[in-house]
Amino acid sequence: MFDKNARVLNQEILEIYPKVNRNEKFCFECNPKVECFNKCCNDVNIFLTPYDIARLRKALGISSTEFLQKYTILPIASNLRHPIVMLRMDEKTLNCPFLTPEGCSVYEDRPWSCRMFPVGIASPNEAEKLNNGEEFYFLIKEDVCKGFEQKREWTIDEWFIDQGIDKYRELGDLFKEISLHKFFVTSRTIEPVKLEMFYMVCYDIDRFRQFLFESTFFKRFDVPEERKEKIKNDDEELIRFGFEWLRFSIFGEKIFSLRKDYLDLEKHKVQ
Ligand code: SF4
Ligand code: SF4
Repeated sequence: MFDKNARVLNQEILEIYPKVNRNEKFCFECNPKVECFNKCCNDVNIFLTPYDIARLRKALGISSTEFLQKYTILPIASNLRHPIVMLRMDEKTLNCPFLTPEGCSVYEDRPWSCRMFPVGIASPNEAEKLNNGEEFYFLIKEDVCKGFEQKREWTIDEWFIDQGIDKYRELGDLFKEISLHKFFVTSRTIEPVKLEMFYMVCYDIDRFRQFLFESTFFKRFDVPEERKEKIKNDDEELIRFGFEWLRFSIFGEKIFSLRKDYLDLEKHKVQ
């Protein structure tokens, strides 16, 4: 996996990596017989989405809190407006912690960016600058990767189906809307409490679930019983709910309302 987006300036993308349309064919195959097998899971920046963390921590049988402590780093940079989480490479070998001689030990639950490779997707900013706002794809061709020399042909759509991208796409797009929200661009300062909320909701999802069910949250906010049940048992629903909560609690969108019985109780207390 190559961390192209971190290394390449927006304008350079199309000069270095060929643009591909959804129905255009490209040759690629990655398997243990390829001479470069396992070479790309070393010293690479893998940014994790909430759904990546939900899948990985479940596959490993640990909580999101433990997963974050053990397997991730939180890069700090002046241009970062909210926390982002990356896989922590091994300090000595710089290998991904999930790399084994046989390949990826979490293959079924590998992160979105590992699934996408070698296909890159332009960010909304890049699409705006380079393709009249229309989303586009490009191929991340690196000399070290012999996958491009193989005979197997794909279209982008076929690749996405093979790699199980669609499941990741819906929650990934919702996450993109949150993380690229104009609030983060236009706010001069963001209160630490909001950044902590962002971190918990997006990454430490087990702690977020605990916060919802072990605080007065559902006594205060009107959430249908059926949805509460889903949030309790279904990570995807928890993540969707979390994004709505961030829109409400950080961006000020009027998504949630206080329960009437809670308001009556509060009024009564004041009198
Ligand atoms: S073919 Fe490319 S993606 Fe596959 S192991 Fe080699 S370098 Fe990595
Ligand atoms: S998660 Fe798997 S595919 Fe992704 S970098 Fe690590 S070992 Fe490679």
